[in-house]
Amino acid sequence: DDFSALDLPPPLRQALDVLEYRSPTPVQAATLPALVAGRDVSAQARTGSGKTAAFALGLLARIDAGAGGVQALVLCPTRELADQVGREIRRLGRFLPNLKVSVFCGGVPLRPHLASLVQLPQVVVGTPGRIQELMDEGALPLDGLRVLVLDEADRMLDMGFADAIAGIVGQTPASRQTLLFSATFPEAIRELGGRFQREAEQYRL
Ligand code: AMP
Repeated sequence: DDFSALDLPPPLRQALDVLEYRSPTPVQAATLPALVAGRDVSAQARTGSGKTAAFALGLLARIDAGAGGVQALVLCPTRELADQVGREIRRLGRFLPNLKVSVFCGGVPLRPHLASLVQLPQVVVGTPGRIQELMDEGALPLDGLRVLVLDEADRMLDMGFADAIAGIVGQTPASRQTLLFSATFPEAIRELGGRFQREAEQYRL
């Protein structure tokens, strides 16, 4: 019942030590083996469950911080959540040399975001509308994407992001790992998973 049972790289173990995350939460214990192994995961999880650290550890275990290009993308419904997710990924990735994590949300000018992408981060977190804008500008190539996370997917659909999500996913490699986290699993969310995931491991409360 601690993190050492999981096959996590040493820099991530070190971060868990410093953050005093001693044992995995239930959603972390249930999903991390599949996350680290690169399998698709569909998980029901609320805020407070430790879901952010679950997919953060999973994606950080699967990227090469020494290599360039965008390797992981996390789509979130709101700026508040995206900022929170970005912070958690940075905290857990603090011992990965050269790791760059960028957060892009709408409601602010596009130009500074475009300028900052001259040097591509390995991990991008953002809201679907702004991510799509950056892709439309050709500033966010996702051909090297390994991990795609749809966080709070039910809220993203409620906010009308279905088309933006489909547009973004359509420009990612079919070989990607796709992770779906949602507080609820109505038909629309199950359809989303069916459309974008392959043999996803299901975790329900
Ligand atoms: P989340 O559900 O992702 O919003 O996380 C809820 C809170 O739990 C966050 O403040 C995390 O920093 C914290 N947390 C996540 N995983 C662990 C863990 N294994 N041990 C202790 N705290 C954790």
